[in-house]
Amino acid sequence: MIEAFVPEHIRSLTPYPPGKPLSELERELGVSKAIKLASNENALGPSPKAMQAIQEALPDLHRYPDGGGFYLRDALSKHLGINGDQLVLGNGSNEIIELLLRTFLTTDSEVLTSETTFVVYRLITQAAGAHFVPVPMRDYGFDLNAIADRVTEKTRIIFLCNPNNPTGTMFSQSSLDRFLQRVGDDPILVLDEAYIEFVAPHDRIDAIEVLKRRPRTLILRTFSKAYGLAGLRLGYGISSPDLADYMNRVRQPFNTNHLAQVAAKAALGDHDYLQRVLQLTEDGKRSISNQLREMGLSVVDSHTNFVLFDCGRDAKPIYEALLQMGIIVRPMTAYGLPTHLRVNMGLPEENERFLQGLRQAL
Ligand code: PMP
Repeated sequence: MIEAFVPEHIRSLTPYPPGKPLSELERELGVSKAIKLASNENALGPSPKAMQAIQEALPDLHRYPDGGGFYLRDALSKHLGINGDQLVLGNGSNEIIELLLRTFLTTDSEVLTSETTFVVYRLITQAAGAHFVPVPMRDYGFDLNAIADRVTEKTRIIFLCNPNNPTGTMFSQSSLDRFLQRVGDDPILVLDEAYIEFVAPHDRIDAIEVLKRRPRTLILRTFSKAYGLAGLRLGYGISSPDLADYMNRVRQPFNTNHLAQVAAKAALGDHDYLQRVLQLTEDGKRSISNQLREMGLSVVDSHTNFVLFDCGRDAKPIYEALLQMGIIVRPMTAYGLPTHLRVNMGLPEENERFLQGLRQAL
């Protein structure tokens, strides 16, 4: 029995519950036209420029990738107005979260965040054997005052997900500034901006400016959402050079692969694609939110490519009825919201199928 070798904090881990894969549902139901609106993926498909860059890179696959990701890093630093040594590239931003915790956490330190937020913060904290301190939400958003109340000298890392997954809500620059005044400069502040491209420019926080005045800040971004490359796995962290340097020491030398690097660089330069994605998302969100409200459901205002809504009763039978129709959405029980479902914006015909299916299921 290996169990005796497994530390208690690993034994009690529950794995991340990913959205059900399309191929799995299709196998189970024996159907071929299932739709997946469960993992906040991009409905439009990848950028044509990214696909072209991958085609061109295929003959080089016998080589190891550029471990430092020079060209992508260069493109990102120009795009963001920062220096290349402020970047850490990861196999998805998930890996950056893991790198951060492996680099800076000790078993007696605490990680502070909100209760209903991206579950990976909790999983990786627990896997590192450190203490996870979740603070209850307020109006489906981060309660920054309550989080500031919980800061102690043991608080090493604070995760703020803005906009938040799975609620879609966000906080303002002024509330963040008040929070930072209370919290001070010691704990590492993580601003997870996985969905930032979907936020209207006037609602955005200037995270790079926060980093300039507060060096213990790490901004997380990803190519998985608005840039449509979830399957390739490329995310990155933006921080001060010394924080990035320590994390780069911990990461594996070839953690991001060659195809992901060239595709991400191409997608970053494909402005037409991004515009189409944002328009499709905005239109879909307006239509889905309105129609959910017409069905009498309460919908949380979202700044992302998904919406969270309350079915007003146990959502599991509704989730399962949708599955039977070949429609995958995300149940929220693992997030402590058993009456809610989360759905991301699909193509117009997918959104329509979801709404019709939901009407039937209700
Ligand atoms: N942060 C948030 C808030 C997310 O929702 C996700 C993806 N679900 C991630 C990080 C990780 O994304 P990836 O690893 O694909 O970059």
